[in-house]
Amino acid sequence: MKNKILFMGLMLLATIVMASCGARVEESHPVEAVHWTYEGEEGPEHWGEIDPAYAVCSSGKSQSPIDVEAPAANDLANISFHYQPSKVNILNNGHTVQVNYDSGSYIELDDIRYDVAQFHYHAPSEHAVNGKLFAAELHIVHKNADGGLAVVGILLDEGAENAAYEPFIANLPAEESEAHDAGVTVDAAGLLPSVQTTYRYSGSLTTPPCSEGVNWLLMTTPVKLSSQQLTALKSIFEDGNNRPVQPLNDRPLAEDTTP
Ligand SMILES: [Zn+2]
Repeated sequence: MKNKILFMGLMLLATIVMASCGARVEESHPVEAVHWTYEGEEGPEHWGEIDPAYAVCSSGKSQSPIDVEAPAANDLANISFHYQPSKVNILNNGHTVQVNYDSGSYIELDDIRYDVAQFHYHAPSEHAVNGKLFAAELHIVHKNADGGLAVVGILLDEGAENAAYEPFIANLPAEESEAHDAGVTVDAAGLLPSVQTTYRYSGSLTTPPCSEGVNWLLMTTPVKLSSQQLTALKSIFEDGNNRPVQPLNDRPLAEDTTP
């Protein structure tokens, strides 16, 4: 009899705990349909199966990131950067730390304007060059008037401390958080390498739903950060937050050789 009461009590407790956990999860992921991770049963190999909305993650033929090998050298139209400093609104969405950027900063590519929406990072890098990953990779995400995306990727490598990255790195939220004004200004122009030639190809978002048609502009010259700065980036997502490289298939891959 005692055991039965104890058992029923435990069941009731379990129900209450499960119900309250469920409510919390819904609150913190209002937009996210299905939870995904970088490891295990909800990891990159399974993204395409865990929600029909993510199907292109496995069925897509133009996925990102890729290993950059033997790009076709070419003198391509330059990207013109029109970046202004911005007060930053920063959040940890559980997959990356994202910095929402004020409107007014943009790039022009082939006479199309793409406005900066946000930047975020992955550690280690997502793109590889000749099979080699870098310590981390920054993604500056831009959107044009038709909703088309262009992402400027910056490979991050160990070197001297980089002052331009410090306002961002000094304000990384360690835990999942809502967007908040970090009280600092970042100049996205300072995040770029001094030489602005790029590898270019058509790819996808590197996170679910892995939507294709993304204009990828990966800087050929890495940017240096100190080992302390790279450690700070890595420590937020200790097991890594990079998707493995995807097959290039028959996509053209170009390297702009003239600054
Ligand atoms: Zn990214």
